[in-house]
Amino acid sequence: MTVYQKYEPKPLKPQLLEMPGFSKKQIEEHYQLYLGYVNKTNEVRQKLETADRSTANATYSELRSLKLGEDYAWDGVKLHEWYFENLGGKGGAPTGHVASLIRRDFGSIERWEADFKATGLAFRGWAVLAYDMHDKCLHNYGSDAHDVGVIWCAMPLLVLDVYEHAYMIDYGIKRAAYIDAFLKNVDWEVVNHRLHEMPGAPPMSLE
Ligand code: FE
Repeated sequence: MTVYQKYEPKPLKPQLLEMPGFSKKQIEEHYQLYLGYVNKTNEVRQKLETADRSTANATYSELRSLKLGEDYAWDGVKLHEWYFENLGGKGGAPTGHVASLIRRDFGSIERWEADFKATGLAFRGWAVLAYDMHDKCLHNYGSDAHDVGVIWCAMPLLVLDVYEHAYMIDYGIKRAAYIDAFLKNVDWEVVNHRLHEMPGAPPMSLE
């Protein structure tokens, strides 16, 4: 089993506290929630070092509980880090290589954006623009919780948190207005960087 190593949280980018459409309180509260997932990841992984493997059981066991907790907390850490990282930009239309791939795989930027927004309304946790290494295409995937509906071998490029905690303070139950505000603050440079850095990145020849 993995030897425990403490995971340190990523700092909050100061520009996220100045984003149009998002109050300081909304972002600060959301960041506190992220810190909770980091703490739980560390707590669970520490307990996993000494958990009883001899009683492992798929209905209930200490090991099962801890591993389920690890899936949920660690996916929560990753998704929130990607979410905060892909905010704080100028928003607007996608740029660069990712824009070319969106046009290729969705037909147009408008068709992608309509599908991305609708995905954000159709799921309870996350909407993710991802590059799927299996069919080598972009897709908008949805997920009801950090550890539910995860697609294997799909690299997240743009991550949108649609849990109520992400927008309730500023938008009440108006999720569509929150998604519009999110899209006005996307950092497309970060999205393009993810695309270029990932293993098996598609060739740039589409430009
Ligand atoms: Fe969240």
